[in-house]
Amino acid sequence: MTVRSLVLVLLVVLAGCATPLDPGERTASPTVETEAAGTATGLATGTQTTRATSGAPGANPWGTDPVVVAIRNEGNPDRDFAPLVREAATFWEGNDERYLGFPVEYEVRPDASNPDLVVKFVDRVPDCGDVSDAVGCAPLVTDPRQIDRSETVRVKTGLADDSTTLVVEHELGHTLGLSHDDPPHEVMQAESVLYTEPQPNATERAFPWDDADFTVHVDAANASDPAGARRQVDHALGYYEDDPPGMPDNLTFQRTDGDAEIRIRFGATQTCRAASGSCVNTYGTDPDGDGAIETYTRVEITLVELDTDAVGWHVGYWLAHAFGAEADGEKPPPFREASGRERRSEWWT
Ligand SMILES: [Zn+2]
Repeated sequence: MTVRSLVLVLLVVLAGCATPLDPGERTASPTVETEAAGTATGLATGTQTTRATSGAPGANPWGTDPVVVAIRNEGNPDRDFAPLVREAATFWEGNDERYLGFPVEYEVRPDASNPDLVVKFVDRVPDCGDVSDAVGCAPLVTDPRQIDRSETVRVKTGLADDSTTLVVEHELGHTLGLSHDDPPHEVMQAESVLYTEPQPNATERAFPWDDADFTVHVDAANASDPAGARRQVDHALGYYEDDPPGMPDNLTFQRTDGDAEIRIRFGATQTCRAASGSCVNTYGTDPDGDGAIETYTRVEITLVELDTDAVGWHVGYWLAHAFGAEADGEKPPPFREASGRERRSEWWT
């Protein structure tokens, strides 16, 4: 018989956010506007082949008695998953003839001692067939002879209620013989957009990056003095490598010509015009789907018609923002209420 372990994959939604800084001599108070720059990426599904048989179509492989479902909560003991499992079971009971061609009835008893099926909630689903990080995993059951009671379905914890229910529905669907090509598509498709439980936004985190080692790309082609502009950027990066107050003390910067986490460029763009002086665009992931970025993956600093001597300061100002100091009072001293002359001084020394 064939036991195929199938997965539903967590998708990551990217969001973008633009902030301009005016070039005036006042201390700027940036305003934040959110751009809808959404992109989704997904992973493939895994299959795990053991033995093969053909099933008898039109019959419930679990038999005619109610399928007794137990719940083992290893991932998050404080959370009650029973209502979500019941909701998923009710979905199939209400749609059995339509999508399965046979009736199914469930009895969800979290502590059942001899269950037919165990829904196990775990921190991670590290392996499911050949897929390494899934949100759920279940055997594909098409024949009664495949069933070795009790069978186990694994579901990742940390997802929002609706997403958890969807994953349980999906995995139960596999235990009822449905594959990723079967209807209902919105439940059985291999990839869905799922959301985590609420997480702190990037603006609420002390350091909103996964790590402190950064790649940097400087495109100074449009700067009035490219070599001078590059030296100014070097001063700003060197300042952060020297552990300024209030900033992480382990920051590293590696120059690259390709994709970089920190991108610095010169010249007006659609969102950063001549009047802006400089702008920052932050990009990152929004796994809880609240419309705000939770972790940054990329920051773009754009400099528009600034004299070369002010370049380093503007870069330094936005780096403080990107490293978690959005409010000027949280930034290192050179970026608080700096006059035009101070901005053009050797503030990094
Ligand atoms: Zn699946």
